[in-house]
Amino acid sequence: MIRRLLRVMGDDAPVLRRLITLTVVCAILQGVAFSLLVPLVQALLEGDFQQLWLWIGVEAAILAGFGILNYRTKMLGLTSSMALTAHLWQRLGDHISKLPLGWFNAEKVGSVSRLTSSGVFSVTGFPTQMLGTLVNAFVTPAVVIVLMFLFEWRLALVALIAAPIVWGAYRGTVAIVDYVDLRTHSANTRTANRIIEFAQTQPILRAFGRVSKGYKLLDEALVAQRKADNSMITWGGAIGDGMFRLTVQGAFTAILLSGIALGVGSSIGATELIALLILATRFVQPLMDGAAAGGGVRTVRNNLNRMDHIFHTKPLSETADAGQATLGDPAVSFEAVRFGYDKREILHDITFTAQARTMTALVGPSGAGKTTITRLVARFWDISSGVVKVAGVDVRDMTAEQLMSQLSFVFQDVYLFSGTIRENVLMARPDATEEELKNAIRLARVDEIANRLAHGLDTQVGEGGSALSGGERQRVSIARAILKDAPIVLLDEATAALDAENEALVQEALHALTTDRTLIVVAHRLQTIAAADQIIFLEQGNIVEWGTHQKLIKADGRYADFWRERSRSLGWRLGSRAKIQE
Ligand code: ATP
Repeated sequence: MIRRLLRVMGDDAPVLRRLITLTVVCAILQGVAFSLLVPLVQALLEGDFQQLWLWIGVEAAILAGFGILNYRTKMLGLTSSMALTAHLWQRLGDHISKLPLGWFNAEKVGSVSRLTSSGVFSVTGFPTQMLGTLVNAFVTPAVVIVLMFLFEWRLALVALIAAPIVWGAYRGTVAIVDYVDLRTHSANTRTANRIIEFAQTQPILRAFGRVSKGYKLLDEALVAQRKADNSMITWGGAIGDGMFRLTVQGAFTAILLSGIALGVGSSIGATELIALLILATRFVQPLMDGAAAGGGVRTVRNNLNRMDHIFHTKPLSETADAGQATLGDPAVSFEAVRFGYDKREILHDITFTAQARTMTALVGPSGAGKTTITRLVARFWDISSGVVKVAGVDVRDMTAEQLMSQLSFVFQDVYLFSGTIRENVLMARPDATEEELKNAIRLARVDEIANRLAHGLDTQVGEGGSALSGGERQRVSIARAILKDAPIVLLDEATAALDAENEALVQEALHALTTDRTLIVVAHRLQTIAAADQIIFLEQGNIVEWGTHQKLIKADGRYADFWRERSRSLGWRLGSRAKIQE
């Protein structure tokens, strides 16, 4: 574990090395100071004041040295801890920012947020809180045993025999805490995810009357967490720690009984025996403290393992000359693209070109792979084979900044940051002038929202944009995309029904966004599909038909069936509504 921490600390590794050296020296001095209690107590009990003062002097000198070094150790511990925090955050931040966007699902986000907060703090607490205790637990008793050989070899031998047994008990405790910690961590992560899900799905849960009866998944997660917490207390605390304490007490009792046996057999004098037994009591405390720190060390190790897991997740590869290629017209092309989220292939041999400044509609039944195609343009994941080109360049030969400068997304699940409407729009281009901002706001019809609100553009949108309606949130996200002014727009048309007024305003906003831009849209509305320059009709990850609406209707194939079915179901819905209204 120390090796891993040294690796993480990079340039600052010498600070941790110095800290370890000083801690070991302090532990040795402590062991020597404990051991010198034997001649000191012996001199006291025998009334040999000359010897007594001599040993008091030596003890005082050692303790003074220990005090100074201990102070330096504490200061170095703080420095190491701060450096470790900075390095961990830096490395995690650097790596996470290079991971594919598709990696960030709800579960990963929950786990990363725990790891970057409590996880990092548990690791960085190691130099200040655990290192000293652990080194004391092993080095101090080892020094005491060695020096005990000088005073009474038989007692030292008993202590030496007890050492591996105590070590075994320590490893056992650590293994138990390790197992329970893993269970507690996954239970906590699951609960955190379920709580977020519970908050986000309130409307659906309420609509189905599930709130009062409880949300089964959250209930189950909470029960699992309580069980995991209980087993942490029972197994980690009571059983693991108890087992270790019992073993240490057993070792102490063995030394005590051996000492008494030697004393009864007159092999050692009473004063020497008392002094040695005092030493034996001092030998126990560091071990007990070590056991308490052992569980914490295991938690640190588990957090380091979780961080390693993130570090081993392959970042998006960038070729050495990424960013060098000159970008052409803002077209998008897929050439024989194959892709699967896991082993199952989702897209099979997809080839098409969305010409610059045209509209391509991706159409097809649910699960056909439409959204996946838009995500691949934005390089949420890397494909298994083939090429995805944006502005004539393979996305793998572009830097993330270069690719993102070409794209704007308006996805269905619009997320607004807690802040004002103005801040949310400006996020696309913080250096935009007031005039550019106002223009984007006007084109996206956000002015209509701002005019209704007391604080206008400076109205807080709430966590995730909760103070705005779905249509309003979408218009703010369109304003963001207009302000960004990227030449290619990826749009996942909302499937959810908006009220008529919002629908019209969103359509107006989209029209402003897509004028003179290349648009790839996952289209659900019939009028959007019919207006496209090109329709790509997908089924089960294959392009089955492509062309204009007229051409495909004429061909009377799968698209024509799909279109008729959609038109019929829409007609039926309108008809039923009309009937209800009558
Ligand atoms: P819809 O119209 O319902 O949104 P779609 O045509 O956009 O469907 P995709 O969302 O691209 O379809 O999904 C294509 C397939 O990939 C589906 O079988 C889906 O279950 C699977 N899929 C989508 N996202 C993931 C993911 N993150 N991990 C694993 N499989 C996924």
